[in-house]
Amino acid sequence: MTFKLADQQIAKLIVNKIRELNLNLRLMHVCGTHQDTLVKNGLDTLLAECNVEMRQGPGCPVCVTPPREFEEAKTLARRGFTVAVYGDVLRVPVEGGSLADLKAEGCDVRVVYGVEDALKIAKEISKPLVFMAIGFETTAPSTASVLLNDPPRNFYVLCCHRYVPPALDALLGLGEMKIDGLIEPGHVSTIIGLKPYEPLSQKYHIPQVISGFEPLDMLVAVLMIARQVKKGEAKVENEYTRVVRYEGNTKALKILGDVFEPSDSVWRGLGLIRGSGMKIRRRFEEHDARKVFEDELKILDSVEFKEPPGCRCSEVIRGLIYPQECALFGKACTPTRPVGPCMVSIEGSCNIEYKYGRLTLKFASNRS
Ligand code: SF4
Ligand code: SF4
Repeated sequence: MTFKLADQQIAKLIVNKIRELNLNLRLMHVCGTHQDTLVKNGLDTLLAECNVEMRQGPGCPVCVTPPREFEEAKTLARRGFTVAVYGDVLRVPVEGGSLADLKAEGCDVRVVYGVEDALKIAKEISKPLVFMAIGFETTAPSTASVLLNDPPRNFYVLCCHRYVPPALDALLGLGEMKIDGLIEPGHVSTIIGLKPYEPLSQKYHIPQVISGFEPLDMLVAVLMIARQVKKGEAKVENEYTRVVRYEGNTKALKILGDVFEPSDSVWRGLGLIRGSGMKIRRRFEEHDARKVFEDELKILDSVEFKEPPGCRCSEVIRGLIYPQECALFGKACTPTRPVGPCMVSIEGSCNIEYKYGRLTLKFASNRS
């Protein structure tokens, strides 16, 4: 018999084991793909029946990118440069219009699937190409490797990469709600391994489990956290052993460290988080868009960036509300007419809820 990672019988057995522990838990994960797995398979409602509440935290790189960084890309596009962005990034609403609006007005904004596409365009043109590099530890190594491999002179990176662990620290430090355990993202953990999460378990006495993306991965991860809670433990465990190693991907970590250094960075919903941003090291500054085009971007220093009126993405990102609790959800805000980034990005909570037709809350929070 082959073991299927979506096997319903096994899922039922795991859920029963969680139920038998008779706990009342609120867990958070920080990954758009985890949220998709939970919602698509109805796992969150199933877990709610066992008194396990699931919340998505700052798990979508596009959603956590603050308005200023989109404005930086817009400013450079208006300046006449070619700006290469991911499809989701193009549509994120920003005051005065999205990058898609600028494209419609004639600016050279191109959609790419990754940094390699952007590099290819740079080789074909002579004017500056700026790649808006968004993503966590998962995608940052690709950007780093392009910078290490002597890209053309007209290739620039607007670096919006961020580290996940400092954001988790900031979120837990806010103490806005009691979280009993964290499910950590599989791809990010493939790169960073288990170690960066360990201080969090010590500091906040919180159990953490790295999970894969299949339904059974997530259920097993929940069971592993529930068992830790039952025993009063708080450690980092790895459910995703078929991919994640304790030390992570040492080669990728090395190139990340060679190209980027930690810097303070603003996250939508979380504000400034110390050491959470990836700054391009001096050695590569001739490709650092923020450095090279410092003068062009200076005008943004005096601008105050506001969230779209009525949009509650900041609270969605901190896991404080479910998308359906935003008055605009499914009404003024839909994937075709998004008001906030959480409805644009395919990893955004609002987009995922809308995609699977959950326009009203199917389950109420079991915790205050
Ligand atoms: S990059 Fe992958 S692991 Fe990280 S948050 Fe996005 S989907 Fe999850
Ligand atoms: S429904 Fe729209 S406006 Fe409301 S939080 Fe989600 S993305 Fe923001």
